[in-house]
Amino acid sequence: MVKDILELIEKEKKRQDENIELIASENFVSEDVLKAVGSILTNKYSEGYPANRTSGNVGRYYGGCQVVDEIEEKCCDLWRKVFNTDYHVNVQPHCGSTANFAAYFSVLNYGDTILSMSLDNGAHLTHGSPVSFSGKFFNMVFYDVDDNGFIDMEDVKRKAEEHKPKLILAGASAYSRIIHFDKFKEIADSIGAYFMVDMAHIAGLIAAGVHPTPFGYADIITTTTHKTLRGPRGGMIFCKKELAKKVDSAIFPFSQGGPLQHIIAGKAVAAEECLTEDYKKYIEQVVKNCKAMCNEFIKMGYKVITGGTDNHLFLLDLSDKGITGIECQEMLDKYHITVNKNCIPNETRSPKVASGIRIGTPAMTTKGYMEKDFIEVAHKIDEYIKEFVKNK
Ligand SMILES: *Cc1c(COP(=O)(O)O)cnc(C)c1O
Repeated sequence: MVKDILELIEKEKKRQDENIELIASENFVSEDVLKAVGSILTNKYSEGYPANRTSGNVGRYYGGCQVVDEIEEKCCDLWRKVFNTDYHVNVQPHCGSTANFAAYFSVLNYGDTILSMSLDNGAHLTHGSPVSFSGKFFNMVFYDVDDNGFIDMEDVKRKAEEHKPKLILAGASAYSRIIHFDKFKEIADSIGAYFMVDMAHIAGLIAAGVHPTPFGYADIITTTTHKTLRGPRGGMIFCKKELAKKVDSAIFPFSQGGPLQHIIAGKAVAAEECLTEDYKKYIEQVVKNCKAMCNEFIKMGYKVITGGTDNHLFLLDLSDKGITGIECQEMLDKYHITVNKNCIPNETRSPKVASGIRIGTPAMTTKGYMEKDFIEVAHKIDEYIKEFVKNK
């Protein structure tokens, strides 16, 4: 390998080994996932789908796909097992964003209306940001959180009736509470809209049964595979069987070319790991750790959005602390603690500055951190913030 790239990989490995990683969307994959992802499967072209899939598709566009067909089918079967579902699944999306792109276009046209969570309340860029395709191609309307930071189901209902969206979207990147998919489904049904869930952040919690499942409620479910699911960087789309053909063709040929079979193999390995008792224990510990750390911040006098957490992350509101989100992120970086700045509900600063930080426990729980370790880190962060503000 080119020497300087090898050296840089080693340098990044050292950073990953030594830092306290609190970015809620990151994790550390197993050696087995790395092995699959680094394999010779990267050499194979396999546009299309395994020939005997149920969606009635045309099969592969290339010869020599016998082995990768087996891998992709196995991958699909394993993920259905993880989520205990008979939904159709497409494991080819290169990332969560392309999964959302394809999911939207599987049932919508340009200019159709989507009702999603507002961006500064914790939604993802692909949920309607003007800098994303979603904000450019669709008529986006948004629901808000209430004064305490919880999703305001009354507002969802009001906006649904007012705008008659063709699709209602639930799911977020920075929301620390349970999302009530059953209530969303009821509202979607009342106006005849499709109901889509983007479970990118909480997929692992759903797999382990510590968050209510969207299966049975949503028409389409998208996810990433590299966050709480602890697989390789990538995406997936699940859908009700009657939408299978639409979803498959929205991935290929509409929005992607050849699938990444080395990543699909990595996704299959991750699914096998998700089916173990160890994984379930891991996710339960992620949530326990998150609650412990969050409660410690509250004890120390910090404002937490919604006043707590039900999942793997929480949002610190620093607006009364004399430090901005970006200042906190950059200051903690110097102490090798990695977090990210985050907008808070009713944000007054630009997203580049922001008034809060997002903290997540999946990555360090993988490294073996327990409640006491996260409590210790909370005190360190508090100490560093106080020192920063004093010297400002
Ligand atoms: C992370 C995330 C995505 C996008 O995933 P990428 O793989 O980075 O494209 C989409 N939706 C939500 C809710 C996310 O948190």
